[in-house]
Amino acid sequence: MTAGALQRAIRRAHDRGGDPAERCDLCGEDLPGAHAHVLDEQAGKPLCACRACALLFERDAASRGHYRLVPDRRIRLTGVPAADLGVPVGLAFFVRRPDGTVAAHYPSPAGATRWDVDPEVWAGVTAACEPLRSMRPAVEALLVSTVRGADEQWLVPIDECYRLVAAIRGAWEGLSGGQRVWGEIERFFQDLAARA
Ligand SMILES: [Zn+2]
Ligand SMILES: [Zn+2]
Repeated sequence: MTAGALQRAIRRAHDRGGDPAERCDLCGEDLPGAHAHVLDEQAGKPLCACRACALLFERDAASRGHYRLVPDRRIRLTGVPAADLGVPVGLAFFVRRPDGTVAAHYPSPAGATRWDVDPEVWAGVTAACEPLRSMRPAVEALLVSTVRGADEQWLVPIDECYRLVAAIRGAWEGLSGGQRVWGEIERFFQDLAARA
């Protein structure tokens, strides 16, 4: 996913206020509150999907390199030497591209800023962590927070990262972000733990 595409996805999530859509973005069917998401790789945006549409994209073979089903697993990790990856503002997420390279993003008021992770460093950091070795390209992320003494390490669906970025953008005040941002980040991880 390009930085521009991610920005657009974030803006879209933000415009929606993070609320689930009412309809399947693929077929227009009504959706329950809890529903699957499919990543449109070309547009770089997550789409809400009904059960029938999600089943279509469950296997990568069906994605034809365009749509990928976003997995629904949230796994709390421990002992990942994430500092080796560089987490400049205490909060970052890492996404494998389909070609095997890894992009790091950190949320900021402007959206997410991106850089490339050294492949050897990534291999070293993830070697001892089974869930990370099975992390799906484009649709799952390693999410790390050391904000205010936190020690959060998670394997999450990519749409959780969009949700966090949108929450940060929405709460950001002034130059440094202000108190509300920290509250939003804490709330996000509490919510994540409740749904893991
Ligand atoms: Zn559908
Ligand atoms: Zn949705």
